[in-house]
Amino acid sequence: MPKKPGFSPEHVEPFVKLSARGVARLQGRHPWVYRSDVADSNGVPPGSLVRVLDERGKFLGTALYSSSSQIAIRLISHGSVADLPALVAERIRAGIGYRKGLVSNTDAYRIIFSEGDFLPGLIVDRYNDVLCLQILTQAMDAAPVRAAVLQTLREELQPAGIVERVDARIREIEQLPPLQSRLLWGEKNSTVFTMNSGSMNGGVRFHYDGLEGQKTGAFLDQRENYAAAARYAHGEALDAFCYQGGFALHSSVHSAVHSALHPAAKCSSVTGVDSSRPALEMAEKNATLNGREMEWIEANAFDLLREYASSGRRYDTIVLDPPAFAKTKRDLEKALGGYKELNLRAMKMLRPGGILVTCSCSYHVSASDFFEVVADAARDAHKTFRVVENRGAAKDHPMLLNVPETGYLKCLILSVSN
Ligand code: SAH
Repeated sequence: MPKKPGFSPEHVEPFVKLSARGVARLQGRHPWVYRSDVADSNGVPPGSLVRVLDERGKFLGTALYSSSSQIAIRLISHGSVADLPALVAERIRAGIGYRKGLVSNTDAYRIIFSEGDFLPGLIVDRYNDVLCLQILTQAMDAAPVRAAVLQTLREELQPAGIVERVDARIREIEQLPPLQSRLLWGEKNSTVFTMNSGSMNGGVRFHYDGLEGQKTGAFLDQRENYAAAARYAHGEALDAFCYQGGFALHSSVHSAVHSALHPAAKCSSVTGVDSSRPALEMAEKNATLNGREMEWIEANAFDLLREYASSGRRYDTIVLDPPAFAKTKRDLEKALGGYKELNLRAMKMLRPGGILVTCSCSYHVSASDFFEVVADAARDAHKTFRVVENRGAAKDHPMLLNVPETGYLKCLILSVSN
């Protein structure tokens, strides 16, 4: 029998030894150990399932090993694991079960969120009858693991299609051969999905194309924030960094109902701004799908906000959902400067009683950093804000208490008092 990496019992044999600092990471209930905290990983093949030991040989658990990522060890169990594909299948079923009670009123949500579902390097999103998966670690890329993922998803969810979205940069970091995004199984890679169907006129509908767009196609982590923001949106609304119109469409569709703080004031107009033309083309299609007429502007949101702010434009509702400015820790200062500028300009443009929905999805920017920078902007804008809601990612993106990286999304809903 040829040996296949990362799944057969004989491959439980490889081990790594951790330094005291590496051991402390695991004791702190964090699953990642950096290469610099691995004392001995001699001859461990890429993507192996490894026994994790301290320097004296005491067993600490079982992990996925990466030979190239800075994160050398991702713990997958505090016990022994004999059969990785079987464990992956079991955890996928558990992930599906976990969401049964938590997720409602949507046919689009995350089914598996990597560490948040104890499956480091596996992401699976559901868009109605199309599933989209991403594989981000060497161990998850092994053929027997892939086979278990596909089979379990098919058995449990009976999709019409399963698409794989490839992040070329990650495959390079993990030294995995390049792959194209493609339909892995079935016939369908595009569909229509519906979010927040319980609360707003039957919900908001979106086109989905599994082989186009950013992330796995949409920003599912904002689903609950769309509904929350729409509860307060009123008057003239601007959705900056709108992508395919998630916030804008919710505010527009929901405005036919009422606004929580301004019951008489519906959204009179909603404008979306993004620098990506394909995203805006999809946004326009989504508007049509929902029977809405909206304005979409292709522009650099920084420039547009600067121009609008200095020409005295005013809004009642502004959403700021920029891309992750801080891709690495080194970018932090610059990123904070970016957030400050955006928030300051938006705050200046808000009319009294206005609503600011401000987000950050950079995991290097902590919730307290973000709070601080937004507070700083308010000080410079000479305005007082109430925090109406302090939110994070939707519940289908579980955050692990001891793993701050899993709680990357911040979303504050603020109202201007004066
Ligand atoms: N709010 C969106 C997600 C936004 S993601 C949603 O809920 O679906 C960030 C978006 O910012 C992307 O669509 C990207 O195209 C856009 N973007 C990046 N840099 C930009 C810039 N300088 N100006 C305008 N849009 C930008």
